[in-house]
Amino acid sequence: MAAAEELHFLLVPLAAQGHIIPMVEVGRLLAARGARVTVVTTPVNAARNRAAVEGARREGVEIELTEVAFPGREFGLPDGVENMDQLVDLAMYQAFFKAFWSMEAALEEYVRALPRRPDCLVADACNPWTAPVCDRLGIPRLVMHCPSAYFLLAVHCLAKHGVYDRVVDHLEPFEVPAFPVRAVGNKATFHGFFKWPGAEKFDHDVDEAEATADGLLINTFRDIEGVFVDAYAAALGRTTWAIGPTCAARLDAEASASRGNRADVDAGRIVSWLDARPPESVLYVSFGSLAHLRPKQVIELALGLEASGRPFIWAIKEAKLAAVSEWLDGEGYEERVGDRGLLVRGWAPQVTILSHPAAGGFVTHCGWNATLEAISHGVPTLTWPIFSDQFSSERLLVDVLGVGVRSGVKVPTLFLPAEAEGVHVASADVVKVVTELMDGGAEGAARRARAKEFAAKATAAVEEGGSSHADLTDMIGYISELSTKKQLGEKSTNNTEADAALSVVPS
Ligand code: UDP
Repeated sequence: MAAAEELHFLLVPLAAQGHIIPMVEVGRLLAARGARVTVVTTPVNAARNRAAVEGARREGVEIELTEVAFPGREFGLPDGVENMDQLVDLAMYQAFFKAFWSMEAALEEYVRALPRRPDCLVADACNPWTAPVCDRLGIPRLVMHCPSAYFLLAVHCLAKHGVYDRVVDHLEPFEVPAFPVRAVGNKATFHGFFKWPGAEKFDHDVDEAEATADGLLINTFRDIEGVFVDAYAAALGRTTWAIGPTCAARLDAEASASRGNRADVDAGRIVSWLDARPPESVLYVSFGSLAHLRPKQVIELALGLEASGRPFIWAIKEAKLAAVSEWLDGEGYEERVGDRGLLVRGWAPQVTILSHPAAGGFVTHCGWNATLEAISHGVPTLTWPIFSDQFSSERLLVDVLGVGVRSGVKVPTLFLPAEAEGVHVASADVVKVVTELMDGGAEGAARRARAKEFAAKATAAVEEGGSSHADLTDMIGYISELSTKKQLGEKSTNNTEADAALSVVPS
């Protein structure tokens, strides 16, 4: 069996911030164990993640970033569009995934040219096109999931028990069958990935690649999701390792500030601003890399944050929309909130903010990474899901872990009546829920204490002796054995072929 130092892992992330960031962090964890790690991605995504790789190098951890050209143009995407956060409509999404699916040959060419066959390919669950390459080249393949085990299991149970087929109305309530905890929702809030018209082939390939993988990795940890991880592993009949939260590893200031992308703000200025605030007093507001609020909802949120009287940092991607920027400027919003509110018009240094002692609450869209980042840093959440697995993360945070307060969003915006103009939470309700989160009396204090306990557990999980550390060790051992077996199998097959060839040579 080969030692970790002799193993070479190829990591193939999905080109979306919520997938590539944790995949690079898995690379860091593996490289820290001595393995050789290569992250294979497209040029734009490689550039965005170079700072993370350099940060790891400063700590003596080597990760290689390899670029494979992205064939977006062949599918009608503009040059430079290589990440999901650059897509604006369904047609672009379809073109984006078609382009990725067509990268099979390029990946194979790259792997074949390597001097030695890699020991394992870790593919994002949304990259099933990597499976045939591994089959042809005899490379063990793991599938990495980036949403929660809660979500994966819920979607599995709903499909298996025919709920998706039986229920017609997207708003009809149901309970998730055979689920470890009581979970009530509807199709609108338990929507699986690739469940859009025209994506049937993607959906089928994703399921198939998962069912045939040599094992599954989930970015979570047993103290928050053990029961869901075990049930999912049993349901799929696949060896599954919970190796997260990948964000629990502490980064140096520079790596933290440019995690996933160069921040659109001076991180040093943000830290000085936070340094001047009392502990646990600041609200951080962000809806991740993909989700956008409608302009009217942005305005209601802005008014609510202003009226709440709390200091806040708001990563406001929507400021790039004319309707929003005109409102902000026309109202003199930033002058009005003065030094109490910081608007980041684009990419914010999220973990720098959440890891600061002044961070006291997180208005989040409940992307799984944001959820893990809140948990890992002990920051209670105001949950504001927008689509897909985010509603499941909200349920986990509020109903299972007791570290969140609901904002009041009930469904994705698509299901709101037209006259609502995308407004889920009016400004007065924003004030109410922010007060509940930040003040909340005894209940609020208990919530904050629980958040701190989970943060300590998250850190312990990835350290030596922790469950995620142990799962990663186990995974490395498993791959080492599997890779050796495959190589031996290959040799014995070659020997058989050689023997057969000899047997027909006339003596
Ligand atoms: N992120 C960040 N700055 C931003 C927005 C997002 O650093 O301004 C990071 C965030 O910390 C998380 C990732 O991008 O690691 C987004 O993943 P998540 O699963 O939270 O949401 P998604 O963007 O996939 O909806």
